[in-house]
Amino acid sequence: MITMEVDSRNLEATEGDTILAALRKQGVHVPTLCHMEKLPPSGACRLCVVEVEGFPNLVPACSYPVAAGMKIRTRSPRVLSARKMIVELLLSGHPDDCLYCARNGGCDLQRLSQEMGIRQRIGVPRKSDKEMDVSGASIIRNPDKCILCGKCVRVCEEIQGVAAIDFIARGSRAYIGTAFDEGLNVSSCVNCGQCILVCPTGALSERSYVEDVVAALADPQKYVVVQHAPSVSVTLAEEFGLKPGTDVDGQMVAGLRRMGFRKVFDTSFAADLTIMEEASELAERIAHGGKLPMLTSCSPGWIKFIEQFYPQYLANVSTCKSPQQMLGALVKGFFAPRRGMDPAKIVSVSVMPCTAKKFECSRPEMAREYVPDVDYVLTTRELAQLFRMFGVDVGAMVPEATDTPFGERSTAGKIFGATGGVMEAALRTAHFLLTGKELADLKTQPLRGLKGAKSMQVQIGDLEVGVAVVSGLGNARRLLDEFTAGRRDLHFVEVMTCPGGCIAGGGQPFGADINAIRARMQALYKIDRDEPIRTSHSNPSVARLYKEFLGKPLGEMSHRLLHTHYAQRDVVL
Ligand code: SF4
Ligand code: SF4
Ligand code: SF4
Repeated sequence: MITMEVDSRNLEATEGDTILAALRKQGVHVPTLCHMEKLPPSGACRLCVVEVEGFPNLVPACSYPVAAGMKIRTRSPRVLSARKMIVELLLSGHPDDCLYCARNGGCDLQRLSQEMGIRQRIGVPRKSDKEMDVSGASIIRNPDKCILCGKCVRVCEEIQGVAAIDFIARGSRAYIGTAFDEGLNVSSCVNCGQCILVCPTGALSERSYVEDVVAALADPQKYVVVQHAPSVSVTLAEEFGLKPGTDVDGQMVAGLRRMGFRKVFDTSFAADLTIMEEASELAERIAHGGKLPMLTSCSPGWIKFIEQFYPQYLANVSTCKSPQQMLGALVKGFFAPRRGMDPAKIVSVSVMPCTAKKFECSRPEMAREYVPDVDYVLTTRELAQLFRMFGVDVGAMVPEATDTPFGERSTAGKIFGATGGVMEAALRTAHFLLTGKELADLKTQPLRGLKGAKSMQVQIGDLEVGVAVVSGLGNARRLLDEFTAGRRDLHFVEVMTCPGGCIAGGGQPFGADINAIRARMQALYKIDRDEPIRTSHSNPSVARLYKEFLGKPLGEMSHRLLHTHYAQRDVVL
């Protein structure tokens, strides 16, 4: 540790830290627009400048190391004036239509302009010659709102390993675009929405279906049902000022009913079903020499990634649909006929942590006789917006239970929301299916936590099963490259598109730091610790569905409704 002087106070810092890292550890606020935790500094925005005694120029805190005895001023008149000028210049060509912007009220540029006390525009708004890109099923790009911070480019390439977007041209002509300026819909974008999470402005946003859902709820001819993904109940509260990890499951269900949804189902029920099918598929592949390692299939960004970058491994991908699509297929293929309803009259809505789910529900594989199994996907953020529109105060609702027949879940289905959760749930059931006995300790500690790549050997009866868990597509890419280089110790691999899994999905509330994401994860594991039904195969509602309708896992009806196949996809890179 070293000591430095910051704004006339002595503070400690770790040698080797940048000034920014050291100041943040000590709770000193320094604004930035381009800095990304865990990635090398890009120094693009210069907002983090500080004054260091003895230095003629202001110093960018993000890229300059601390030194013993350093005297730093973070709010001197010179520093404040430089920061204000940077924001004024960013705003000089920027549109003034905050009131109509997707990020109004949650925009870093807007907040900084307020923080700096900017009351007058310098320059005139400049209309970019690039049109808005509304071609994608999940992501909308608005070049007018872009301040060229580069965070979307970095997350897409350095974290996700996709590189669908990049800087194009130089200087004042520079902009962010796709290869050959094509729409995102034909690019290699996997719709993960991680770029939206890091974008400080309204230049990137999800394609919203809030208006469509409002219209459906108001239509007496429609029967609107909703499902909510495992992670949503532990993240939604942040949108209403509650602390990260607060579980509002019952209140959310009550709020959804208040808005007019006729049935509220739990996607975690379908996660249990996914485990029944996927664990059976794994057992069958192991017993009959099927393609191994088997790769999970519940994360739609990952599916598009492997379709376009690694089609040679498509045979390794489980044929199970994702829990969202399994439940969607059951709503229209089981629930509707049982009630004597026309599936086309049902509007099936899902609330997901994920922007890629919007793309997934629009895939042709996810419709039968041209009727999509899921009609509209709302992100957690959009659900919060819907609640605000309907005046529902989620925190004040009296908790209610989800509806039968797809309301009951195990905690195995619930932990799907964190990286490692699918694997842990699958191991519990695979052990039971292969040995007839429960796994001694249902908790598989080495698979928990936010590390991007984890692996272990698990003893199941006489068999030693190699499993791995990766989250973030950059980690998935590295693992697939290891397979190509000859790695052969794995039987089963869980892949989640977003780093940390669905709790950090591209549709989750903005502004979550690592502590918030950890709190979300811990909330899921607390549910797993506290509740009695902890395995998918012990979910009574799942057992009933097999008895009354599906028959058995991997049976004919399951194959018809719950499984699919994917094929190589050509994209404009
Ligand atoms: S990006 Fe921010 S500053 Fe720009 S219009 Fe939208 S809300 Fe306003
Ligand atoms: S949604 Fe994901 S893949 Fe698409 S541009 Fe954004 S970060 Fe890249
Ligand atoms: S789109 Fe957003 S994240 Fe990307 S460079 Fe522009 S402002 Fe930054």
